[in-house]
Amino acid sequence: MKNQASIAALLELIRERNSFVISSHLRPDGDAIGSALGLMHLLEAMGKQATVCFVDPIPANFQFLDGRDRIECTFPPVDAAIFLECDSLERSSIDRRQFEAAMPALTINIDHHRSGRDFAGFNWIDPEAAAVGCMIYDLALAAEVPISRSIAECLYAAILTDTGSFNYPSTSASTFAMAEHLVQSGASPNRIAADVYFSNPPSKVRLLGIALSNIQIDGAVSWSHVTVEEMDRVGATVEDCEGVANHLIGIAGVEAAAFLRELPEQNQFRLSLRSRRALDVSVIAENFGGGGHRNASGCSMEGTLADVTRRIVEQMREACKPLRNDGASVEAPTLPSILLA
Ligand code: 5GP
Repeated sequence: MKNQASIAALLELIRERNSFVISSHLRPDGDAIGSALGLMHLLEAMGKQATVCFVDPIPANFQFLDGRDRIECTFPPVDAAIFLECDSLERSSIDRRQFEAAMPALTINIDHHRSGRDFAGFNWIDPEAAAVGCMIYDLALAAEVPISRSIAECLYAAILTDTGSFNYPSTSASTFAMAEHLVQSGASPNRIAADVYFSNPPSKVRLLGIALSNIQIDGAVSWSHVTVEEMDRVGATVEDCEGVANHLIGIAGVEAAAFLRELPEQNQFRLSLRSRRALDVSVIAENFGGGGHRNASGCSMEGTLADVTRRIVEQMREACKPLRNDGASVEAPTLPSILLA
């Protein structure tokens, strides 16, 4: 098994302690929620106390996961805090003041982002893992904990969403072997897909309509935006913006894409960046204080819509130049490796 040393060291730290809080990044997605709940069930199977803590809301399409009703928004006093998919405390979905009041003696960071950082007391970062759900699966096997139906469903949902339904290049034979085991252990692919992909609120689909009608395409670069007024018009929430960027990079010939969401604060935008193949949008995101994966990153920017659009499009055009000079890299499109994280 890969990462054997990290897993052995992590298991020792877990075995020496009793109580854990698990959290992940702001605006948690399928991998954040599925992995956190899967790890909670795993720790409980090991005889530990585990609390999943998110201050952000859980999107409607992950409400079906077992343990979702036990998610807390207050940070309890514990022996150790485990952060999944996070590069810092600042990006975690916890209340910083509560964390500082509880101040667990140990912090643990489990991540698969290329821009992951060693911010915790113990850090296990594997950028090759298709999802943090895969890392929690390996941890469960090493702990010799039987995969219960609850663990199976949570980890399957995490892996399903972070591999773009087993479509991205991060998907390998071992991803399918994990999925097979999770299905044998009680995860229903049909039921999970129905909840995750076919339970969208009308506001999400209406917002997608607006975002798609705002699309601009210039050569290998595409971009779109939604304003606060457009979101209000269809009653959309922040969660409803999840996945819009994937439509932009799904356009034939497009190598880099940006989706801009206006924030209620004046002249503030959240950006979701997507790319194909070798084009690394995490570098662009990092230029603006953000980060993420090579093919899926994000950042915040300040300025008018026109100004932010101009700056991000300029950077994406620049990033596309070497690709377009290299015939091999603009051949038949492949799907981005990781669109959700
Ligand atoms: P999304 O566009 O779906 O919000 O994010 C794509 C990826 O980039 C996810 O893995 C997400 O965690 C990461 N990401 C988004 N925004 C930021 C940011 O501001 N900082 C960092 N470090 N990562 C980000």
